[in-house]
Amino acid sequence: MAAAVKVDAVVLGAGIIGVCAALHLQARGRSVMLVDRRGPGEETSFGNAGLIERASIVPYAFPRSLRDILHYASNRASQVRYDPLFLPRIAPWLFSYWRHSSPTRLAKAAIAMLPLIERCVDEHDAFIAASGSEDLVRRAGWIEAFRTEAAFDRAAAATTVAAEHGLSFELLDGGGLRAREPSLTATLTGAVHWLDPVSVRDPHALTMRYVGLFASRGGRFQHADAGTLAAGTDGWSVVTDAGTVAARDVVVSLGAWSGTLARRHGYRVPLAVKRGYHMHYAAGPGAGLSRPVLDDEAGFVLAPMARGIRLTTGVEMAGIQAPASPVPLSRCEPLARQILPLGERLDAAPWLGCRPALPDMRPVIGPAPRHSGLWFSFGHAHHGLTLAAVSGRLLAELVTGAETVVDPAPYALTRFV
Ligand SMILES: Cc1cc2nc3c(=O)[nH]c(=O)nc-3n(C[C@H](O)[C@H](O)[C@H](O)COP(=O)(O)OP(=O)(O)OC[C@H]3O[C@@H](n4cnc5c(N)ncnc54)[C@H](O)[C@@H]3O)c2cc1C
Repeated sequence: MAAAVKVDAVVLGAGIIGVCAALHLQARGRSVMLVDRRGPGEETSFGNAGLIERASIVPYAFPRSLRDILHYASNRASQVRYDPLFLPRIAPWLFSYWRHSSPTRLAKAAIAMLPLIERCVDEHDAFIAASGSEDLVRRAGWIEAFRTEAAFDRAAAATTVAAEHGLSFELLDGGGLRAREPSLTATLTGAVHWLDPVSVRDPHALTMRYVGLFASRGGRFQHADAGTLAAGTDGWSVVTDAGTVAARDVVVSLGAWSGTLARRHGYRVPLAVKRGYHMHYAAGPGAGLSRPVLDDEAGFVLAPMARGIRLTTGVEMAGIQAPASPVPLSRCEPLARQILPLGERLDAAPWLGCRPALPDMRPVIGPAPRHSGLWFSFGHAHHGLTLAAVSGRLLAELVTGAETVVDPAPYALTRFV
């Protein structure tokens, strides 16, 4: 039997989280093997809205007002859909999410996430420069747009918190909005233009550029099923298509599939899946966008991408393996056509992605409490692209015993197990 290939670290999962962890480990002198059962970046990191969301200083919370809860409970909202048959299974997780979304706990979550959010663009910029990816990046912020004056006024009032955090933004009335994005219709009455975030024209292409950088620095990628992970006497092994690979350290960055592997090694993590869809559209005659636009009250994003205008939907609560549903997109598309002239659909079917979400709105980044050399980095939910570079840095610093860029305590798995 062929001897196992030895590396310092194996990273399980080549989504944007695993790829950035691999790059940071490599930068700290570790030999790294990146593995995935698919090609790099082909799951959730493939189809997001492309925002590196520096302005997201408050996590996406469970609604607390009775009006909002009843609206979503009707299961007719454009922002959220749920599979009624899945509801009993996900109810305990939703209850925990609701509890963590109380004003006090949400403020705690926001404080916990802030050190990562504050560094998200700077940490990506280092990889963007090193991988020659500036052509994939748009430095024009994004627009949070409103249909009603009341919603715009509420958002405008809330910007005082953003200002206290030093974020740059402009409040735009309807005329100002159309001066900035001339194709948007008068359905929108006002907007906040967030200036600090950047957006990506093709999130999959960015992941592949990062993988190219990793390879150019001597990193290797292999196909493997992470389920073959086994503990040995002095580390871990995984069976890849090219044979067994052994390593002292292994990083679990399997996105929405991380919970299954963690459970196999004795850790029950409350990881749920917030599913979301996208579809590309041709721009209507003479129409276009210069930056992503969120229709705040309808709950979808329209993002100008290399392939066309990408509509990304809000959240669908359904099993990870449940078939894709046409419903979320069929609810959002007519609303999207109200705010921007859109041509025909460009994809044969809606793309479906699985946001990995923990009920306290924080990822898990750090060691497995009862196993030496087993590390976790998953649960980045709505902000996996945003957080990938800084999250990878923190993980690599923990693995190598270096001083960490931020306090890792809020992301420890010990809060659950
Ligand atoms: C519609 C939508 C819009 C979004 N918009 C944004 C946005 O604008 N900005 C932002 O920051 N975030 C956004 N997100 C969230 C973001 O896309 C995710 O948080 C991020 O992609 C998660 O990355 P990941 O690497 O953890 O997971 P993934 O990209 O899903 O990667 C996990 C990898 O693990 C592999 N894998 C799983 N099981 C196994 C196994 N058994 N063996 C081997 N490999 C395995 C998979 O093949 C996959 O490649 C959005 C998400 C959606 C769905």
